[in-house]
Amino acid sequence: MIVTMDVLRDLGIEPSNPGAYDGDWIDTTGDVLVSDNPATGEQIASVREASAADYERVSAAAHDAFLRWREVPAPQRGECVRLIGEKMREQKEALSRLVTMEMGKILEEGRGEVQECIDIADFALGLSRQLYGLTIQSERPQHSMRETWHPLGTVGIITAFNFPVAVWSWNSMLSLVCGDANIWKPSRKTPLTAIALTRIAASVLEPEGFGALVGLVIGPDETVGSALLDDPKVPLVSATGSTRMGRIVGQRVSARLGRTLLELGGNNAIIVWNDADIDMAIRAIVFGAIGTAGQRCTSTRRVFAHAGVIDQLQERLVQAYSQVQAGDPMDESTLLGPLIDRGSLDAFTQAVETAREQGAELVCGGSALQLDGPLSSGAFAQPTIMRASADLPLMQEETFAPLLYLVSIDSIDDAIRVHNDVPQGLSSAIFTMNVRLAERFLSAVGSDCGIANVNIGTSGAEIGGAFGGEKDTGGGRESGSDAWKNYMRRQTSTVNWGADLPLAQGIKFGE
Ligand code: NAD
Repeated sequence: MIVTMDVLRDLGIEPSNPGAYDGDWIDTTGDVLVSDNPATGEQIASVREASAADYERVSAAAHDAFLRWREVPAPQRGECVRLIGEKMREQKEALSRLVTMEMGKILEEGRGEVQECIDIADFALGLSRQLYGLTIQSERPQHSMRETWHPLGTVGIITAFNFPVAVWSWNSMLSLVCGDANIWKPSRKTPLTAIALTRIAASVLEPEGFGALVGLVIGPDETVGSALLDDPKVPLVSATGSTRMGRIVGQRVSARLGRTLLELGGNNAIIVWNDADIDMAIRAIVFGAIGTAGQRCTSTRRVFAHAGVIDQLQERLVQAYSQVQAGDPMDESTLLGPLIDRGSLDAFTQAVETAREQGAELVCGGSALQLDGPLSSGAFAQPTIMRASADLPLMQEETFAPLLYLVSIDSIDDAIRVHNDVPQGLSSAIFTMNVRLAERFLSAVGSDCGIANVNIGTSGAEIGGAFGGEKDTGGGRESGSDAWKNYMRRQTSTVNWGADLPLAQGIKFGE
């Protein structure tokens, strides 16, 4: 509890906090939302939620700030983002502890998540001098053509509970250097980390008169969420969360011809072939399936192992699972923290039951994990392996918990086919020493996912690559590579510097 108080004080979190920011913290009047520690059930602090009217204030202020910010040269915008990154560095430990306290991931993963925010701020700073367009050869004499990227407007950012700081940073650091304003609607399961991070960014932007660039609204989906989706002043909504949510957001925003960037559910698999380095495969599977208690979008949920190695793999996985220490996520020796809430725990035990009914065999785990003392109210799940056939119906779904299906497979054709035979398409991996198999997995006839790895697991992407997936994962790409283009509008310009007016395609009109 002493640690809790220190962390909250360092980050400016009060026992009760306003749930909206538009350059000033708004005196919100909505319901009180209490944020609990999922490991202990202890109340951390509360938030007074925003109303639809508060949303309108935030949106208007963001738009005003955008109109001024778009005129600031991009490298100067990058300098502000650099300073935000520096503040995040200074507050890294406090912020990581708050992530762990509020979301329940183990402290080392909390630190990794905050490091991702710092890294993306560095990346965005570099980008601020590289928002390159093209010059294009014109077909007409004495004409020049170019493509330019301009700021887009206000970007709505909807985030999931499981990455309560990184996903906002991926979107906001890039969109800020691109010249946009943001409105963040975080998960109601992690409102305090959103307030802490907004405070950090505001401490840099507010003195420059640009606090409203990092607008925040914490409130119900039906009021502030809806207002964001329908807001004509928000040309782009970047939404991270379940496929269910993505379908609603996609349809609502496209109904007003707005743009979306969707980062939705995954159902990620690893193929382990008979020539694989089994030690490496085991480490990757354990981290992928148990890390963040199986609550990463990139968590490993399915393993297709060659029939020649599956028994050895299973035995060694069970051995590795038995050594995973569950407990207080703040304790450095803990590897498995709690699920976000009891609802998730119920969904997990129900999934195990359904898989059994459908013919899967329980190998280890399978139940809620009852811990003692202060952790007795926490929603802990036993890390679970089930042996299944490739056509298990439940394997089509993402169960957001440490539940892993192990499937025996004989041919690489079958492995790739069943690997791709799910609605989602986020992350994938193959463990093999055979370059032909590896390259085939990465080819057009291999994995159909947005991320495909060789001898690396499904989770733990670097910020430098474009992140996202296909099919029900939504098709969006965030973070590195050229994902910045999502946050800008493209303009094609042709300049005639001659004295004639030739038409394209050689058309003669009235001559
Ligand atoms: P969720 O869909 O319940 O909620 C995500 C966010 O969407 C929350 O902020 C929620 O309030 C908001 N939301 C939901 N319905 C809405 C509506 N009708 N209007 C406006 N906003 C709405 O997801 P969750 O339980 O917080 O997160 C877990 C899910 O997120 C998993 O499916 C996971 O795979 C996915 N996820 C995907 C990625 C990715 O990059 N692909 C990253 C993290 C999490």
